[in-house]
Parts: sequence; C-alpha cells; structure tokens
Amino acid sequence: MIKDIFGSLVFNDSVMAGRLPPDTYKEYKDCIRLDAPLSKEVADVVANAMKDWAIEHGATHFTHWFQPMTGVTAEKHESFLSPTGDGKAIMEFSGKELIKGEPDASSFPSGGLRATFEARGYTNWDPSSYAFIKDGVLCIPTAFCSYTGEALDKKTPLLRSMEAVNKEALRLLKAIGVTEYKHVYTTVGAEQEYFLVSKEDFSARKDLRFTGRTLFGARPPKGQDLEDHYFGPVNPTVSEYMRDLDEELWKLGVAAKTRHNETAPAQHESAPVFATANIAVDHNQLTMEVMKRVAAKHGLVCLLHEKPFAGVSGSGKHDNWSLETDTGVNLLSPGGHPYTNSRFLLFLCAVITGVDNYGDLLRISVAGAGNDHRLGGHEAPPAIVSLFLGDELWEMLNCIAYDRPYVRHDGLNVETGVHILPRFEKDSSDRNRTSPFAFTGNKFEFRMPGASMSVSEPTTVLNTIAADAMREFSERIENARDIQAEIKAVITETVKEHGRIVFNGNNYSAEWRAEAVKRGLTEYKNTAEALPHLTDAKNIGVFVRNGVFTESELRSRKEIYLDNYCKTISIEALTALDMARQQILPAIAAYIAELSASERGLSAINAEAPMAEDMKKLSSLYAAGKERIADLEAALFKARARGSGQAAANLYAEEVLPAMLGLRVVADEAELIVSEECWQYPKYDKLLFDI
Ligand code: ADP
Ligand code: MG
Repeated sequence: MIKDIFGSLVFNDSVMAGRLPPDTYKEYKDCIRLDAPLSKEVADVVANAMKDWAIEHGATHFTHWFQPMTGVTAEKHESFLSPTGDGKAIMEFSGKELIKGEPDASSFPSGGLRATFEARGYTNWDPSSYAFIKDGVLCIPTAFCSYTGEALDKKTPLLRSMEAVNKEALRLLKAIGVTEYKHVYTTVGAEQEYFLVSKEDFSARKDLRFTGRTLFGARPPKGQDLEDHYFGPVNPTVSEYMRDLDEELWKLGVAAKTRHNETAPAQHESAPVFATANIAVDHNQLTMEVMKRVAAKHGLVCLLHEKPFAGVSGSGKHDNWSLETDTGVNLLSPGGHPYTNSRFLLFLCAVITGVDNYGDLLRISVAGAGNDHRLGGHEAPPAIVSLFLGDELWEMLNCIAYDRPYVRHDGLNVETGVHILPRFEKDSSDRNRTSPFAFTGNKFEFRMPGASMSVSEPTTVLNTIAADAMREFSERIENARDIQAEIKAVITETVKEHGRIVFNGNNYSAEWRAEAVKRGLTEYKNTAEALPHLTDAKNIGVFVRNGVFTESELRSRKEIYLDNYCKTISIEALTALDMARQQILPAIAAYIAELSASERGLSAINAEAPMAEDMKKLSSLYAAGKERIADLEAALFKARARGSGQAAANLYAEEVLPAMLGLRVVADEAELIVSEECWQYPKYDKLLFDI
C-alpha cells in the first residue's frame, strides 16, 4: 500500500510526535515555526530518538548530507559505533553531532573563499528538512558554510532568501492590514525530465560516459517527427522502472505524483506534489540520485543532461513557485474576485516588478554549459526572460492602471461539441507552453532551469527579487495617507513601468526576439556572456540588501560557475578528440579498406566496381576530419592556456565549441556512409529506440 510505504524511511513529523517527549516535540516545532535556534538539550533528545529510529530501520551510519557547489550532494558516513573500553561498543549519537559537522572545506569548490591552508568548514543541521535513511545511512540535511560563516553551498542562500520572503511578505500583508498570518513560505514543485538508455549502449559511448551527452551522432530516420511519444503509452521496461522509482521516492517521503513519456523518444518526466522550497530542493536532489540508482538496477542509465541528443528535445526542470502562509493560503491565488483582491494583486505585481528588474538574474541562475544547448533551441524557452500572465489577467491590471471598466470573462463554458462529455469551466487563461516564466493559475512556472541543475539557484533568485519588490511596495504603502489609493498607484506603476516584461504571445517566434530587443530586454546567448553580469552593481545590491549573499560570496560563486563551465567544455573537447582519433577515423579507414577489397574482387572477375565514389567521399571526409581535429586541438590549447576565468570562458564559447561542432559535422556525415559493422559505437537509432 502506497500510504504505508510513503515516508517509511523518513524521520518526519508523525515519527517525531510519536517518539519525542511532548515538551521536546513542542520546542522543536516552535523552532521551525519561528525560525528560532534549537537548544542543546532538545537537540540531544532529538538526536537520540533519531538514532534509535534509524537503527530500528537498519541504519548503521549517519551523515550530514549537504549540497556543495559541485551541483551534486555530498556525504561522509560515520558509524554510530562507540567503543566502551571493555572490548564492547554502544551505539551513540549526540545533539552536537546532529547540529554540527566539520568536513574539510578546502576540497569543495569555494571560488577563492577557502584556501587549502584554512580548510575548516561546517555543516549545520537544517531542522526544517526531515532526516531520512538512504542505503543504511541516516542522512541529515545540512547547510555548509566556511569557518567565518560564508555560504559554501546551495542551501544556505536558499534558506536566507526564504527568510527574506517571509519578512517582506509579512510586512506587506501588515501594511494592507492583514495580520492573521505568522509565516509566509515559498513553495516549489520541480518537474524533472530525463532520458533512459540501455546500460550497454551507454557503456559503449565515451561521450555519454564522460560528458553525459552525445558529442557525435547522425540524425536517425525517425526522431520526434510524429509527436507520438509525448504522453504515449509507456512500454513495459520503462513502466517497471517508473514503478520502482516512485516506490523508492515515496519511501523517502518524496511525493512523486505524475509520470509520463516526454516529447523526445526515450524521454520521460516525473513530477512531485509541491513542498516548502528547501524541502522541495532537497527532494529534487534526491530524486535525481534515486533516478540514477534505480536505472542501474534495471540495466538502464538515466541521463539528466540538458541536451543528450542533437535534433530532439532537451531536458528541463520546471520550477513551479508560489507563496503560501502558515495556514495554507496561497498568496498568488486570484480567488473568486481577483479584480478587488488587493492582496493577490500586490503579490502578483511584486513578481512582475522583480522579474522586470532582475530578469537577467533569472537567466544567469540557469546558465551552464549543458543548458546552453537547450535555451533558445526551438523546443525550449528562449534565453530572453519574459512573463506570461494570460490576456485576461493582463487586461484586468490594465483596466486598473488606465481607469477602464473591467468586464469579467469568467464562468464561460467550453464547448467541446461532444454532448456526452461533462461540461467544465474554462480556465481564466489559456496555457502558454513557450513562455520562460508563466503564471499558471496560482503559481508561476519557471521553465528555463536545466534538467541536471539544482533548483536552488533559480528559487533563491525568485525569492530575492520578489522580496525586494515587496519591500519597495511596503515602504510606499506604510507611508501613504490613503492606503487604497497607494495600492492602486503601485499597481498602476507596475503596469506602466514594468509591463514590458509581460508577453502573452508565442515566445518561439522570430518576431518576439525583435520585439524583445525593442523593449530593451536582455538576451544572454550563452553562459560566458551571462555570468559576468552576476556581479553587476544592481545585482550585488539586491542580494546584499536582502541578506542573501555578501558581495564576496557572490563574486566567489561567479568564479565557481566560470570554472565549471570551462572544465565541462574542456572535458567535452578532449572526449571528442579521443573519439575522433580512436574510433571515428579508424572506422572510416576500415570501411575504405573493405570497399577497396570488394572493388578488387569485382575487378578480378571484370565486373563493374562502383565503390570508387564512396571511397573518394570517405577519403575526403577522413582528410577533413584530420583538419578539424587539428583545429579543435589548437582552439582547446589556446583556451586551456587561459585557465578557467572569464577570458577562458569566452574562448570556450567562441572557439572551442564551434570547433567541436565542425568536427561533428564531418563525423556525422561519415557515419551515414560507413557500414554499421565498421562504426565503433551505437548510433542514435539504437540509443533512442532500444528500450
Ligand atoms: P500544470 O497544470 O500547470 O502543469 P500541475 O498542477 O500539474 O500544474 O502542477 C505542476 C507542478 O506544479 C507540480 O509539481 C505541482 O505540485 C506544482 N505546484 C502546484 N501548485 C503549486 C504551488 N502552489 N506552489 C508550487 N508548486 C506548485
Ligand atoms: Mg513538463
């Protein structure tokens, strides 16, 4: 039964309620609710209960589980075992061990914040995200910071940004006379797209093994042309995988809810029920890990790269985002009368204002070597941030701003023309699949994040920029003589000054790009172009003002992202060179030899030998391949000589990637001529249609 396995490996609220003394439980709950620190005594009691529970569930070790800037999670297992001196041992776990860990911080990316000689770092328990058991290890979600308190991870800034939202949202509510809520949380639901390939095919391709994506591969006869994969029937192998995946996720308390085939062949999606942002981020990290582990059990490999295959859709991760009070009220829910719902309108306007002021930050938050192949592609949101509201909502805001009467359009029935179908009420806006940032009824859906990325960064940015606009609104409304008039003024200004960010049309069209330029919206085509703007004065300002990053933290992050970008492309280039030399050129040569042998055989019996043309073509491709290898080598050499800062990143973007593509064009052309026997690794048709 799902309901019995759900959360069975989680030290969650109901386990705590059952196992902690009532006073301790209450103190723990208060600490979460009020963002207050936990006393040492309470921590000791919680730790002990956690240990007993974990051991009963087969755990032998514990670990502080954290999210360094590597993008994957980190863990260092320690056993509960403690020798007693008489040759025996007891199982121990103290409050101190629960609250604080001291991993060596010098081996994690710190962007210069940590040098190897000052290696101390701390992991600090996040009591608002439940501990869980993974592989016999009690995992305690923690934040990771340096000896001097600088954030070295993706959780610390997220938690800070959630505090900023809480503070500014409560303040804005108070300014309009709403004082009944004690806390405002950000909620996140991360839809996760992924590909499945067979373990055998995966192992046979160096590019998949080393880079997570194919660096070569000619277009197969069939791609996603027929649009028959999206929501298509799930085949038995994948179905078993999905069932297993859900079960493992449920045990860990991840509320996996929907699953389906995605657009590209071999592409699928899993989405959970949304949760408080930091828990949702933890859960998404876990989901990615479990997806890979479960795949291995099924003889499969799960690819989370943003663009594993050219020519078919890439994989994204939609960050659904909203604001919720401690009593469960969604502040972005329009309710029955949005036109007069100033609470809704103000929070909506705060998001519009934030996204217009800091759309560049949203773009930067999803920058990365992998996602560059996806953003701006025909199937993915473009690299220009705009906001979809739907015509009706936008019209409503305009009516307020320009003092026009507003006519309600709701309650219309959708006519399907089929009378046996039950009638349903039309949503107040149609769906827009092309917008990078869309209002979808009672939440925003940010569609730019890449499949392999943590949703922490985009969520941190969303929280920060929304909180910043809320503060601006509060300051105005608090100081106003006529609150209602000021609310209207705030809405009016949002429409007039930030309306340029709203676009309800087709974001994939060429007209939109031209229009966006006219509106003065920024477009950063790739990571190398985007990253320098992370530390633009206005961006440092908004993070510092809201207590999310210090300037030095932000600068160090930029270095980390640049470093990662350069290294990722460097590895790709080395892999491409290796495959070209070791596999592709030899395959071409082998097939030429085969053709020439058949030609000799045919001439021996005086039969016509039509191989010459293919041999000539292949020999010229071989020569071109050698040239392109030399070009790529030269570009890579030049870039590597610059290290891994901005100058190097520019070279990787402008010279190394185009050189890789140049080599690919030659290889892909040869792939279509060389026989299957001679080609040395599985082709796209096998990769995409094998399972
Ligand atoms: P849509 O119809 O727009 O695709 P769904 O209801 O299917 O929306 O939800 C898509 C994702 O958005 C799910 O992961 C869901 O849990 C999440 N979601 C729904 N409501 C919220 C909310 N208030 N805050 C954050 N995420 C939400
Ligand atoms: Mg989707």
